[in-house]
Amino acid sequence: MSIRQLPPALINQIAAGEVVERPSSVIKELMENSLDAGASTVDVQIAEGGIRQIQITDDGQGIPKDELSLAIASHATSKISELEDLEAIHTLGFRGEALASIASVSRFSITSRHQAADHAWSLNGGESPAPAKLQQGTRIEVRDLFFNVPARRKFLRTEKTEYSHVEQVFRRIALSQPSTAFTFSHNGKSIYQLPPANDEAGLLKRVGTLFGKEFTSNSIQVEAEAAGLALRGWVAQPTYSRSQADQQYFYINGRMIRDKLVVHAVRQAYADVLFHGRHPAFMLYLTLDPSRVDVNAHPAKHEVRFRDGRIVHDFLFKTLHSVLSGTTAGEQPSVKADGLLGFSSTYSPPQSQSSLNIREAVQTYQTLYGEPPPAPAVSDSPNNEDIPPLGYALAQLMGVYILAQNSEGLIIVDMHAAHERITYERLKQQYEQDGVKSQPLLVPERIAVSSKDIALFEENQDLFESLGLRLDVSGPESLLLREAPALLHAENLPQLVRQVLDDCHTAGSSNKIHEALNELLSTMACHGSVRANRQLAVPEMNALLRDMEATERSGQCNHGRPTWVQIDMNDLDRLFDRGR
Ligand code: ADP
Ligand code: MG
Repeated sequence: MSIRQLPPALINQIAAGEVVERPSSVIKELMENSLDAGASTVDVQIAEGGIRQIQITDDGQGIPKDELSLAIASHATSKISELEDLEAIHTLGFRGEALASIASVSRFSITSRHQAADHAWSLNGGESPAPAKLQQGTRIEVRDLFFNVPARRKFLRTEKTEYSHVEQVFRRIALSQPSTAFTFSHNGKSIYQLPPANDEAGLLKRVGTLFGKEFTSNSIQVEAEAAGLALRGWVAQPTYSRSQADQQYFYINGRMIRDKLVVHAVRQAYADVLFHGRHPAFMLYLTLDPSRVDVNAHPAKHEVRFRDGRIVHDFLFKTLHSVLSGTTAGEQPSVKADGLLGFSSTYSPPQSQSSLNIREAVQTYQTLYGEPPPAPAVSDSPNNEDIPPLGYALAQLMGVYILAQNSEGLIIVDMHAAHERITYERLKQQYEQDGVKSQPLLVPERIAVSSKDIALFEENQDLFESLGLRLDVSGPESLLLREAPALLHAENLPQLVRQVLDDCHTAGSSNKIHEALNELLSTMACHGSVRANRQLAVPEMNALLRDMEATERSGQCNHGRPTWVQIDMNDLDRLFDRGR
């Protein structure tokens, strides 16, 4: 075949391969266009999983008649005009490829009424615009996706599968812009109707509709600002983990992204509190100056490049780590969550009932044990505010649980789980004070790596030293390991060194040694902790409760199970139909 210039339609169809993979990718591009156009309502209707039909209508600024055919031309965009604009992208789109691509692989029509026009214009295929009826805004209809590209049509899955992809994209975008109203229907059946969410409560309601109440009642609110970065949203308690990474929503300046650095920072924050193989759930919004993040790194714009990745990584990790380390009673969800977040509310007793106060608790204690409760001496301060968050122990149940009373009601503690966490945190603290003890290997170990890894190692030599790993470069593609942390097993070391290099690559810091050591300490803690069925005296139980309050992350055991739950008086009253 001789060399020839490809016809424009074929160029677009080839380009479509990159942007349009399946119905959900069309939905994504069209919904993003609606948001870029400043829409305050977006209506999405699809048929047969989006394969047969997709129709999206918005009330955004619209497109003038004489720009309609340009909108579906390739590399035509109103969002950027010069190279400098790429430095700080404020819109979701900017490549000017989506409409051209979609139009080239479907039966496509666009109708739009610009804000300054007195009626709408419509474009079907290659004809010139015809007058049409529409309120201000834009409607795009995409029918029979890939009808003219059999090779791609073959890759479409069942209606059910395509539908679930579309629903997922709809959810992600609906959460990206709380102030916009969204509606969604499939085969004529209404699926979601989301009113605009103008405050935190409204947004949480939307999250509940889209994620389920389970998530909202098991989440901790995040709100932090530093170094020009702001993080808001919710992270699920480690006890509410998922078998899949399907509830992980992260937005940067309103753009949903899936980025290695972000995933790494979040995983690191959960590292200590999540059961192996489980995935955390979160919904987070990061805002920063658009010039600090490059969204032009990937055609689907999922991945980004931060100009100061290390700062962002540290900020995310530290914020989430401290949120997840919370130990005060107010942060543990009550067993039966009442409010959206399920934070235990302050108890106000029904009128007829005399409140169980701390004086009574002390009396009960004295009657039971013939001595005053151990310090802090509550009898001096009957004020409810002085009751420690986890209260005072009342009894032990079946050798497994401690029952305690705090200002809100009943606390139940899993003795072994709680003790295990405390021992583990202690071991870690000791270890952190004394640092990583390394020892020379009997036989230095040769580790094959790439030349890129060698450069990475040379840049990060300090980091390796601080982790107790002493290595020499012993060839263009090999490292020689001479010293390693004493606690670690020798056979895992090369793997560990490679993982540390990997971490340097994605995050500019490494957690791998700490992860490996933590696992070890966690096993030690498990064996050194009180087993179920040991009788504890009340002072011992109270000591355990005080230890828990003083220990980070004591709300979960090392395996991510809860160590204690609160059943407040409202919950108990409900059980007995009291106060109605
Ligand atoms: P991009 O979004 O990258 O600019 P698109 O091919 O998605 O490229 O859209 C091309 C242009 O068409 C946009 O720049 C915008 O001017 C216009 N456009 C597309 N969709 C809409 C819409 N829903 N409302 C108003 N204008 C739109
Ligand atoms: Mg676009």
